[in-house]
Amino acid sequence: MPAAFRRTKIIFTLGPATESEEMIETMIRAGADIVRLNMAHASHDWTRGVIRRIRAVSARVGRDVAIMMDIKGPEIRTGDLATPIELQPGEIFDFTVKPGAPREAGEEVRSVDVNYQGLVNDIKVGDTVLVDNGLLRLEVLAKNDAHIRCRVLIPGPLSSRRHINLPGVKVGLPAFTAKDRADATVGLEEGIDFLALSFVREVADVALLRAFLEEKKSKVRIISKIEDQSAIANLDEIVAASDALMVARGDLGIECPFEDLPVIQRRAINACLSQGRAVIVATHMLESMITQPVPTRAEITDVANAVYERADCVMLSGETTVGKYPLACVQMLDKIARRIEQEETTGPREPAVFTGERMKVLNAAVVLANQLPRSRLLTFTRHGFMANGLAALRPVQAPILAFTPSPEIFRQLRLLRAVEPYLMPFAPHPDETIENAIRLLKRAGVIVAGDKLIAASDIVAEERLVASVQLRTVL
Ligand code: PEP
Repeated sequence: MPAAFRRTKIIFTLGPATESEEMIETMIRAGADIVRLNMAHASHDWTRGVIRRIRAVSARVGRDVAIMMDIKGPEIRTGDLATPIELQPGEIFDFTVKPGAPREAGEEVRSVDVNYQGLVNDIKVGDTVLVDNGLLRLEVLAKNDAHIRCRVLIPGPLSSRRHINLPGVKVGLPAFTAKDRADATVGLEEGIDFLALSFVREVADVALLRAFLEEKKSKVRIISKIEDQSAIANLDEIVAASDALMVARGDLGIECPFEDLPVIQRRAINACLSQGRAVIVATHMLESMITQPVPTRAEITDVANAVYERADCVMLSGETTVGKYPLACVQMLDKIARRIEQEETTGPREPAVFTGERMKVLNAAVVLANQLPRSRLLTFTRHGFMANGLAALRPVQAPILAFTPSPEIFRQLRLLRAVEPYLMPFAPHPDETIENAIRLLKRAGVIVAGDKLIAASDIVAEERLVASVQLRTVL
């Protein structure tokens, strides 16, 4: 296997630490596959600017990365505060959904505004309110149409625009908000490859985004972020309705009992494997590297675990937006993934929902690849289906060298485990296309004499779909 080949893909989030042309180039050269833009912190001007910069740097470096726009979905936040408030243990504190609403005479309760008026309808007395990634915990004591009165259980400082989590509460906000629509429109205009939808709770949420993409005639792929208990309850349906899933462990770890997190991660990855969908493990993978040049032993093992579980991608967030060592983080993921991939022993797994002759042909190709040392899978894909099918079968050692004539599909293939995409026009005759691909791979030093090539292809001939597997030895 060529040393350059890593099966697990790396996603990094762009931010102040990585947004310069120089840093984007460094991260692409270090092996990042997908750049994530977090729209919680992005203006439209910034977004347009960085997308163009990423494309320009990719073209100059000769390695096209994919771009994922992460839209915020139904996010509840506190309002602005002139100065942070230090919440005290047992303090009575109000969340105000109607800024400036009158209070009872003589009432001296401190409060902060909340950006969602419907919160008073969704929340009940006795519910828990978590603020700022769960650092502050409050219990609801009473409510009226303007204020939610709470008692502080875990105190601490509260500053402006902090994220609010409400474990187990069904929030009435739409999944795809007006802000999401505006952000996504900018993304589509600038040619992004993936849209990640936050706080997907049920299939109807994915359907809203799907309808928007259809209305825009866009082929951008949908990544559903699972972040709360409703998503877990509806996991299989959400996976089926999405192109890929992100296990968003930051919010999941707040919304669900923390000891459930590893169980949820494994369940989510298995649900994706059995339905042939890509899956991303996200958040806190190398959190300590925001300030330290080396990760903790526990972080190394966490990354390794995601690779052992055969996730498609691992993702960096704060490590590369504001961290001091963004390049070292990508290098660290790269190193751990390559090492653990040498240990992989699990064989192919036929996704339950992929049926039909084409999938059986792909399965035959993967079984063959797993039995032949020095084998490489070769496939030709106009819409990504063949490459997706091979990746879903999780070949043990062979890379999947996927040729496509479409620049959009080429970038989307960056998401898939073990897939190395190549952009190449297809010749009128399929055999000629295979010969052209082999010539290209030889010239690039990706294959050498003695390697085994297993080409899985499908063509429509005389109005019938013909799928085939060919085995060749490279001369
Ligand atoms: C997460 O919660 O893990 C996550 C990826 O979402 P965000 O960073 O957008 O809150």
